[in-house]
Amino acid sequence: TVTVVGSYVVDLMSRTPHMPKVGETVLGGPFRMGPGGKGGNQAVAAARQGSQVTMVTKVGKDDFGVIARQNFKRENIDTSYVLVDNVESTGAALIAVDNNGDNMIVVALGACGKLSAEDVAQTEEAIKNSSIVLVQLETNIEAVQKTAEITKRHNIPLILNPAPYQEFPREILKAVAYITPNETEATLLTGVKVTDEGSALQAAKVMYELGVPNVIITLGEKGCYYYNGGEKGILYQGFKVQAVDTTGAGDAFNGGLAHALAEGKNLEEAIKYANAVAALSVTKVGTAPAMPSKQEVADFLKY
Ligand code: ADP
Repeated sequence: TVTVVGSYVVDLMSRTPHMPKVGETVLGGPFRMGPGGKGGNQAVAAARQGSQVTMVTKVGKDDFGVIARQNFKRENIDTSYVLVDNVESTGAALIAVDNNGDNMIVVALGACGKLSAEDVAQTEEAIKNSSIVLVQLETNIEAVQKTAEITKRHNIPLILNPAPYQEFPREILKAVAYITPNETEATLLTGVKVTDEGSALQAAKVMYELGVPNVIITLGEKGCYYYNGGEKGILYQGFKVQAVDTTGAGDAFNGGLAHALAEGKNLEEAIKYANAVAALSVTKVGTAPAMPSKQEVADFLKY
C-alpha cells in the first residue's frame, strides 16, 4: 500500500491567451473543474499505476467535499481517512494556463490546511501497514511532522516532496528516505540556486548532509538528478514529449516513484518509471485527470 498524507483541493482551471497583468481581466476558456491538490494528484498518479492507495486529507462539509470522496473512490483510492472539517470549506486552486503551457496558480487550502497532528495520529494503523508513505508541504507542517514521526517509529520509507515550499524544522529530514524537490524548492531549501547539473549536485549535498540518504531533484524536461553521497550524482534524462500543460508534472513524478518503489523496483528503475509517468502527464491538460494509466506507461516505455 502507498499512503499519501496531503492536500486535496478542487481545481478550477481556464486557458488564457496570455497571463493577466495586475488589474487586467482576460477572456479565457474553456473552463474545467476537477480534483487537484498535490496530495490528491499524487495519490491518483500512484493509483492509476495499480498501487493500493490510502489518502489522508481533510475536506469541508460542502459539495466539493462530497465530489472529492466520489473522485477518490472512482480512482480506487481508500477514503477511510478523508476527514471532514466542520468549519473550513474544501480547498480550491485557481489555475491559469497560457498558450505555452505555463501556469499561474493560487491555492486556498481550506479544510486540508487544518489537517492536524491529532488527525494524522489517528492514521497510525494505515501508515504502519504501508510499503511507502508520501507527504508534501501543502498542509500545515504539524501534519508532516507527525507523519515523519510515525514512519520513523515503524521503519516505513518516507518520500518528502517539499512542495509548495514552506519553512519546516530540519529535524524532519532525518526521517526522510527520499526527497524530491524541483529546482525552485531545492533552491529555497538549501540556499543554492539550482539551474543545472552542477548546482543540483551542490544543493543535493546540502540535503544529504541534513540526513536524507536519497536526493532526487526534478529538472523539468531535463529529467532529474539523483544523489546518494559521494562525489557526484546521476542525471536521468527526461523523455521527449510534446508538452501541452506542465501543471502536475511533479505530482505525476512523485506518484510514479511511490508506486514503483512500493512495487519493489530498485531506485534506478523507479526513477525512470517516474520520469515516464511525468512525461506522459504533461502531454495532457489538467492535473489529476492528466495522470496516465498503467497501460499507457507500459506502451510508452516499449519504444
Ligand atoms: P514541478 O512540476 O514540480 O515543477 P518539474 O518541472 O521538475 O516539477 O517536473 C517534474 C518531472 O516531470 C521531471 O523530472 C520530468 O520527469 C517531467 N517533466 C516535466 N516537464 C517535462 C517535459 N516538458 N517533458 C518531459 N518530461 C517533463
